[in-house]
Amino acid sequence: MHPFRTIYIDMNSFFASVEQHEEPALRRKPVGITAMEGDVGCLVAASYEAKYFGVKTTMNIQEAKTLCPKIILRPSRHRLYVHYNQRIAKIFDRYAELEYIRSIDEFQIALGGQSTHLEFASKLVQAMKSAINNEIGKSLQFSAGIGSNHLLAKIAGKLEKPNGMQWLSPDNMPNRLAEISLNDLPGITKGILYKVNAAGIYSIPEIYNLDPMHARKIWGSIEGERFVRLLHGENIPLGITKRGGYGNSKMLAPENRTLKNSYFVSRWLIEKSVARLRRDNYTASQFTLFIGIQKPKGHWVQSVKTHYSQDIAHFLDINRGLWLAMYARERPYSISSIFIQLRNILPLSKRPSEMFLPMDMAKQNQREHLSKTIDTINRRFGASTVTYGINKAHNGFFERG
Ligand SMILES: [Mg+2]
Repeated sequence: MHPFRTIYIDMNSFFASVEQHEEPALRRKPVGITAMEGDVGCLVAASYEAKYFGVKTTMNIQEAKTLCPKIILRPSRHRLYVHYNQRIAKIFDRYAELEYIRSIDEFQIALGGQSTHLEFASKLVQAMKSAINNEIGKSLQFSAGIGSNHLLAKIAGKLEKPNGMQWLSPDNMPNRLAEISLNDLPGITKGILYKVNAAGIYSIPEIYNLDPMHARKIWGSIEGERFVRLLHGENIPLGITKRGGYGNSKMLAPENRTLKNSYFVSRWLIEKSVARLRRDNYTASQFTLFIGIQKPKGHWVQSVKTHYSQDIAHFLDINRGLWLAMYARERPYSISSIFIQLRNILPLSKRPSEMFLPMDMAKQNQREHLSKTIDTINRRFGASTVTYGINKAHNGFFERG
């Protein structure tokens, strides 16, 4: 069999499960988690007992109540979910190499050595399931996908819910997905689906059998080629987004909308994105900062070209300059969202050397080497063991559970 490289873990109905764990009276009952106090707005999560009645995440509360009159509503407690996210991450970290925390309820584990065999990878999943049950509680369950790469693992994780375990590799692709519809695949947005259908393609096996270069034409970007190669089980590093860069965006929680806190969140986003860039051995030569302004309403965006770098301190310097420029112009009272992006990506091994610039040809310079060491320490001992001055972690606001 082909080797497996990734386990993708998706906590089932995470927010609702945490509430059921915290409040035993909610267990085995239909529970909906709301974005705000009271009966207005939408659900951000629903327990499996509620989903049984057809209730869905993001559904309007009135609609959910019509489908399931007995649904018990609780307001979202984001900090609590972040706390559980960290507890779970620590448990996984003891059993395996926790490679990425992909979101508040998704984790990616790297496989190596023996665990690249299905038998061992499955045992690892079982061991992690028991550990979560024993150390936290039975309310928290997850579906795991074992795959040749992160995309196949993620898709495999969606095949069986709740509490599932499935695998995907060239040994069962594409037939294993023959019955799944195209728009259930991560990465197939409405826009892509339209292009793919226009090219006469309606099923996963048909996409699978595309020549990767042809897929590139259909998508109109390198993403198409990447997607087909990933379906074939190739190992392509994660992190290059659709726009060909490494990015991170956040809607800010109310307490982080002040100028000072939002600036610190931007520093945190940069540290995270550059760490990912470095882990994949890339450099970037363009930095974009987008700031959504709540008061007075508007937005501010600027891109800066620089030399190819993977140095966090360098991008933090640029970021500081951009915030000063933004403040001088906009004088905002309150910031609603931040988006940062690193573009013009080049593998470190292809970086040219330029005189007078702090970059060495095809290898890390001293500062970058220091950054890499800090990444390793943070990965080993927890995300904020060493930081570059002040930042502010912001794990998301109203994310879906
Ligand atoms: Mg989930």
